[in-house]
Amino acid sequence: MMRIYNYSDLSKSDITKLVQRNVDPANEIRTIVEDVLATVQQNGDSALFDYAEKFDKVTLDKLYLDKAELEEMASTVLPEQKAALDTAYNNIYKFHQSQLKTEDKVETMPGVSCWRELRPIEKVGLYIPGGTAVLPSTFLMLGIPARIAGCHEIVVCSPPQKNGKVNAFIAYVALLLGIDKIYMAGGSQAIAAMAYGTETISKVDKIFGPGNQFVTKAKTIVQSTTTTAIDMPAGPSEVLVIADETAKPEFIAADLLAQAEHGIDSQSILVTTSAQIAEATLAEVEKQTAVLPRAEIVRQALANSYIVVTDTLEEAMDFSNAYAPEHLILATENWKLITDKIINAGSVFLGNLTPESAGDYASGTNHTLPTSSYARAYSGVSVDSFVKKVTFQHISPDGIKNIGPSVEILAELEGLHAHKNAVSVRMKETL
Ligand code: NAD
Repeated sequence: MMRIYNYSDLSKSDITKLVQRNVDPANEIRTIVEDVLATVQQNGDSALFDYAEKFDKVTLDKLYLDKAELEEMASTVLPEQKAALDTAYNNIYKFHQSQLKTEDKVETMPGVSCWRELRPIEKVGLYIPGGTAVLPSTFLMLGIPARIAGCHEIVVCSPPQKNGKVNAFIAYVALLLGIDKIYMAGGSQAIAAMAYGTETISKVDKIFGPGNQFVTKAKTIVQSTTTTAIDMPAGPSEVLVIADETAKPEFIAADLLAQAEHGIDSQSILVTTSAQIAEATLAEVEKQTAVLPRAEIVRQALANSYIVVTDTLEEAMDFSNAYAPEHLILATENWKLITDKIINAGSVFLGNLTPESAGDYASGTNHTLPTSSYARAYSGVSVDSFVKKVTFQHISPDGIKNIGPSVEILAELEGLHAHKNAVSVRMKETL
């Protein structure tokens, strides 16, 4: 069960240790993943068949499902399930479409104009997790911004299930997104396929999507060893709840458990100004865990989780900023007093009636978010992740006269005479 710490007893180095997670100190994950990456790079499709057998315990006769198969599978989705997926689709679409913005041209000097235009990344790869739970919600979170950005080719990989297919909800989402092929590859082998390319899977320009430690390690390795970029390290999920005496232990416990059921390496942290809330939440966690179908996973994740009791909400926020959580819930009626103190967080849920689950599925925000303290420097997935912002400039005859002399001097002081000349020849032309 979750351990309780008093913030005032923790030294700086205690806090540094406490906020560390998924560090793979003995490089166990790295060693496994490097072997998978090398094998896929060398053996292509045949390695994907072998790994499906080894890790997913399924013998595949082909690596993908085509449009006709996806349509057949999607036809089994019940009307109320379709309606819920449609609601999520519409809200996510609405929120992400608002992120597409054109920027103004800026005249930095008379006759010198600079601006940026968006261009889609041409080939993107989406990883849809499907190990302990299949996540059609992740398919919506990645496919919608990819479509809004206008990416030309969208490659989708998801682990094969026991029946040698993906599940029907993934098939339905594929049809919603206008995607007519799903590759059945999971884990680090799927990341390798999209980074190197195989006989059937195209190499992509950028790989997106969350996953377990194998997926995340593979993404971070290919990012530094190939020309394929990644969205961010989006590994095992985590939540940090900040609660004061206005919070409800029943709600806090439900949120902590929602995170813990993802996987044994998930983390659920409560930081509270009230020792009574801490005790009452622990009792609720026990009560609610008992009836959860994934109680076994939950218990293991909670063994890895903890509670910190602070004196003030400011101290709670200091701890949260040090932890840099993927999800931050402010379970307090006083949330307006502390939002401007948030520095490091992936996605924030405000007040007692805003569960993380709403953002996980359907409110509109993206659920693919930086974990393991990468929220210090990375943002979650958005339309921005699927585009490049290309800078443009235009210089008129007046402009070259205005900017030319400065550029000539700067080129000369760096000793780059050809640079200077590229301006000088034009200035002569416009005299
Ligand atoms: P997954 O699809 O990420 O991984 C399953 C694959 O892992 C399998 O297909 C298999 O190939 C591979 N694998 C399993 N055991 C292996 C082993 N011993 N060696 C090598 N490869 C192995 O699915 P999952 O396991 O259910 O994990 C999903 C993860 O995604 C969870 O940790 C969840 O917390 C996380 N998640 C994160 C976010 C985010 O935005 N950060 C969002 C949703 C989910």
